[in-house]
Amino acid sequence: MERNVSSLAIVVHSIRYGQMNRRLKLLTVDFGLIDVVSYGARKSIKAVKGDVFSDGQFFLYYNPVKRDYTLKDVQLIATHDEIRTDLSANYAALFFCELVINTNGGDSASQYGLLSKALDMLCSHQDLVARILIQFVLRLLDVCGLQADFSRCPLCERPYGPEEILRFNSQMGSPCCVSCATLDSDLVLGPGARRYLTLTKGMDFHASVAVNLSDRATLRIKAYMLRYAALISGKELKTLSGGMLETLF
Ligand SMILES: [Zn+2]
Repeated sequence: MERNVSSLAIVVHSIRYGQMNRRLKLLTVDFGLIDVVSYGARKSIKAVKGDVFSDGQFFLYYNPVKRDYTLKDVQLIATHDEIRTDLSANYAALFFCELVINTNGGDSASQYGLLSKALDMLCSHQDLVARILIQFVLRLLDVCGLQADFSRCPLCERPYGPEEILRFNSQMGSPCCVSCATLDSDLVLGPGARRYLTLTKGMDFHASVAVNLSDRATLRIKAYMLRYAALISGKELKTLSGGMLETLF
């Protein structure tokens, strides 16, 4: 009955399961977000490695009766172990994974591509964690079909003035003009931040992170993107609860 299947995937969550095993959550290209049991993962040296942030081709057994997946083997593309050596990068990566789990429903190949690139960047650019975070959330909005329009109000369709301050409509999950804003959100986007987001949005991820941004602007835009992420996530993000991500650069 069991079938062998495989997919490119990233481990986005891992918890202990019984005495010896782990239950992993994988963001796969082919099956979306799935739970996979890795037997003997805790103690055996021979057990298949499947730590959080691992990126690779995962080989699984699928049992269609029980509808569950078992991890058989993995060909790692990247372990992303370097992320664990930096506290800020580690927090950001856990936040990315949690956000991917909470907003699941978009195109899984695009989600995988985005997360894979973001984790690579956290390994290679640990001095730019805040900018990577801003660009990750900005791109995830697109992947989730919530493409934010920074040039005109999506409700009344009026083009924004160059110095206009944007408010937020929580029903649309989108920035908007002051007249179309809902009262339950005080998310505010100033013209400087809007110019930065507009400029970097269409760029390649690497190029966007390389764009210079003052420390003050970085903190402000990051705070905006964190609150935006919390809103689209629909439930509380555990990785935001400690306040760590608010202060990091
Ligand atoms: Zn409007």
